[in-house]
Amino acid sequence: MATRFALIITPAASDDARDDFSASFEVIDPSAPALSVGELSTQRGDGIFESVGVVDGHPQDLAAHLARLAHSARLCDLPEPHLEQWRQAAQVAAAQCGPGEGVVKLILSRGVEHGPAPTAWVTAADAADFTVPRDRGIRVVTLDRGLDSGAPARAPWLLLGAKTLSYAVNMAAIREAKRRGADDAVFVSSDGVLLEAPTATVILRLGDRFVTPEPGAGILHGTTQLSLFAHLEAEGYETAYETVPAAALREAYSAWLVSSVRLAAPIASVDGAPLAVDRALTASFNRFLLSPRD
Ligand code: PLP
Repeated sequence: MATRFALIITPAASDDARDDFSASFEVIDPSAPALSVGELSTQRGDGIFESVGVVDGHPQDLAAHLARLAHSARLCDLPEPHLEQWRQAAQVAAAQCGPGEGVVKLILSRGVEHGPAPTAWVTAADAADFTVPRDRGIRVVTLDRGLDSGAPARAPWLLLGAKTLSYAVNMAAIREAKRRGADDAVFVSSDGVLLEAPTATVILRLGDRFVTPEPGAGILHGTTQLSLFAHLEAEGYETAYETVPAAALREAYSAWLVSSVRLAAPIASVDGAPLAVDRALTASFNRFLLSPRD
């Protein structure tokens, strides 16, 4: 969807005690060129981001997104983001989304090659219409990520737990899923552990328990999954983070891909084998996910 609004942030030092950061925001024309050709985000994908779902101008799960932004910055040796400054920027951008569903992106790049500082910006756009995948479900294929489950600990420079701007691999996986007649992919490790989708977390229903792969295994800790688990626990369900064998996805009672903008999309088939879509439960998940949350 077209970007409605954009602002450039002059990043504050982490100990900046200002209450109001509006003077550090510069609203720019979202359709005009804005980045220098020396930008390392565009040259090397060297930066981090967050996509925050917005409902009626309210940025959802903003505190969890900001915490993950700070986590990604640490993993990438980027300067610590001033979270209050980013919170205010996200609020300003979210207010521009208008009624209905939108998306605010927070982007922190290493900046211009040999430049003095990182580049930071925030955008706001309307969300795409996800009614069909939320309602009817999506077909997924499992794809080998080509790394064993020890790789994230053995090779932290792969940045597997950071939400970096280098999403070319994730986009290639979705294209491969489409070539195989599916809508989306789910990565598995080369030693057969279920991981995540290229842009979403996997949740399985195993009996009356809801299980998601352990985020320590080199996958992102999803803000949507965190919120949904808190909701499920409040409803009396058991939830757990576990090392999940890839085969468990086919054997689950039901399963979902969840993320900040698409929200909960039930999985209708895995590698061509049908999986039960619980439409009533999915609708209740999405009603919860569309209610205002901080
Ligand atoms: N895993 C990956 C690789 C993602 O890119 C995303 C979101 O884009 C997620 C999981 C889900 O995270 P969230 O629920 O915070 O959107």
